Amino acid sequence: MTRTDQISWVEYEALLKDSPILFLPVGAHEQHGPHLPMGTDAIFATRMAEELSTRLGGLVLPTLSYGYKSQARSGGGQTFPGTTSLDGSTLVAMTTDILRELARHGVEKLVVLDGHYENQWFLTEGIELAQREFALQGQSMKVVRTEYWDFCPQSVLDSVFDGDFPGYDLEHAALIETSMMLYWHPELVDEEKIPTDGPARFDAFDHYPQDAAGVPPSGVLAPALGASAEKGGMIINGTLDALEVRLRKVFDQGGSDV
Ligand code: ZN
Ligand code: MN
Repeated sequence: MTRTDQISWVEYEALLKDSPILFLPVGAHEQHGPHLPMGTDAIFATRMAEELSTRLGGLVLPTLSYGYKSQARSGGGQTFPGTTSLDGSTLVAMTTDILRELARHGVEKLVVLDGHYENQWFLTEGIELAQREFALQGQSMKVVRTEYWDFCPQSVLDSVFDGDFPGYDLEHAALIETSMMLYWHPELVDEEKIPTDGPARFDAFDHYPQDAAGVPPSGVLAPALGASAEKGGMIINGTLDALEVRLRKVFDQGGSDV
């Protein structure tokens, strides 16, 4: 695994000759309850990118550690101290700027690896605007945008949730993220502070100005009790295995198919 912020431009230029996959992790600085750090989404996106780049021989770009505004029904919302978010136009512009620069370097394969649900359409727009430019200029870059959780195998979810997975909507700072952090960074989890004030109960609409309606005071949207490093390992490794297979196929890097 090579991080571009730790190599010289000379090394970078030489590595690009083999047309590696570059990974751009994107996260958020967002409350994740009293027991997880605010960098959780950025930490997971970064770790996923690092692991995949090791498996696929890619390069990892510096993480975008801020994300689009937290929404009550997916991240508890913007009412919490600490949650520090970007306007959508800022995230779109940052994404387009980075892609434009990568194209100038000759990068041909990019994975935008998103760890924060609310980012996805702004990352998409940034990629779309860059692609429009590339088409006009005769440049080409194959870009995959993914939210890593979409690749967690159903069999793993069945096992972790004992056949009762409620869906990703309320999985904010809950069983999945807490288990993942216990596996990767147990020193960043304060298990004694795992709250019991959830689960969240939301109407099927969003309130503006945001008022935290339905959000438990802790900011945790579903139960995190029962989280464990073992469950985290199953989630992480199941997700990585599935993502590796798909990315090999998308980028013609051989390996087994599904
Ligand atoms: Zn999160
Ligand atoms: Mn998030």
